[in-house]
Amino acid sequence: MLTSPRSFSARHLACLLFAVALSGSLAQAQSTVQAPTPTTTLLCPAAVFDGKETHAGWVVLVSGNKITAVGPAAQVTAPVGARTLDLANQTLLPGLIEGHSHMLLHPYNETSWNDQVLTESQALRVARATAHAQRTLLAGFTTARDLGTEGAGYADVGLKQAIDQGIIPGPRLLVATRALVATGSYGPKLSTDVTLPQGAQEADGVEGVARATREQMGKGADVIKVYSDYRWGKGEPSHPTFSQEELTVIVQTAKAAGRPVVAHSSTPEGIKRAILAGVETIEHGDNGTPEVFKLMKQHGVAFCPTVAAGDAILQYQGWRKGQDPEPARVQEKRASVAAARKAGVTFVMGGDVGVFAHGDNAREMELLVRDYGFTPLEVLQQATSGNATVFHLADRGRIATGLLADLIAVQGDPTKDVSALRQVQMVMKGGVVYK
Ligand SMILES: [Zn+2]
Repeated sequence: MLTSPRSFSARHLACLLFAVALSGSLAQAQSTVQAPTPTTTLLCPAAVFDGKETHAGWVVLVSGNKITAVGPAAQVTAPVGARTLDLANQTLLPGLIEGHSHMLLHPYNETSWNDQVLTESQALRVARATAHAQRTLLAGFTTARDLGTEGAGYADVGLKQAIDQGIIPGPRLLVATRALVATGSYGPKLSTDVTLPQGAQEADGVEGVARATREQMGKGADVIKVYSDYRWGKGEPSHPTFSQEELTVIVQTAKAAGRPVVAHSSTPEGIKRAILAGVETIEHGDNGTPEVFKLMKQHGVAFCPTVAAGDAILQYQGWRKGQDPEPARVQEKRASVAAARKAGVTFVMGGDVGVFAHGDNAREMELLVRDYGFTPLEVLQQATSGNATVFHLADRGRIATGLLADLIAVQGDPTKDVSALRQVQMVMKGGVVYK
């Protein structure tokens, strides 16, 4: 159960006292002119998960776009004129933070990645992305780190502006723009006779990568994403791409401008170079070894395993999960995630959403619990306070006085049952209720 009888009654007492105060103020307002639009809201859930732990019987007060008080119901007083949101049987959480999305992509079983990059217009992709942003927000994700437009140029910068200006609903975005790849290493690839538009920006050499990094930052990149390894040819395993020197220059160039660098890396050498260059997170890490995870821990680099992406792609390729034997790739993934946990690496929750449907972001958290042995509490901490810390977002990820009022309410207790995250009842971003 969610609450002890004692805290439950305390919660109701506070909301009751508050309702009395509210009716008084409304009566007063009716006798004069119109009631002012309430800018203060008291949220009364069964329990509050503050980003670290759960507190039964707590309430949260929101004024404007900030959290102004949080604590046991008896200790939080709402001002006269505030409204109340009774969230009985629900848990209030910080708005979730998606660690790895691609708003400009849609699931590969609808359209292959190649065809999205080559045949879909930017207008079509942006129109889709607006729908993706809304679905992401309504699924409880009030912030997303979007790691590359995959051929859609700087469309993520405009998408972020449209959200921030209140033109379309969506999460607060951290955008990577085009991402950096070594010439020849990425895709799409078809005939050798044609030069195709690529899914990321090609750059080489110390001067070339510094220039491309600066270009992306100048256009609005909050974070620089680099592919430290990739498959050079179809069907072959990944190999390192950029040299150690090139990666180091990318990180130094970005760091000087206050931008972190994140690396798509899956080979031990690609991961190692990215860590030594000073990236902040490693994305995917499929073939990480105990040695590279040890190095990751030593350098304070966090790991975003994106388990849902591989799981989805294998099913698109015909794997009938639960019926067919588990593919080697899944077994390897489990071994690498286990090695990272053993090494004490910090985890980032991010699913590589776009490979699978936007709004289905909870899939990563469900898989981490069901297939990878994490507890629901660990996964929730990753998706809130954990991601906020790794992404340098000191103003969110926890429920505490002074932080942004990015809050969601779900039916039940997600720290016990991760599927409760599918039951999002309320979404508030910056004090504005979207659901
Ligand atoms: Zn990705």
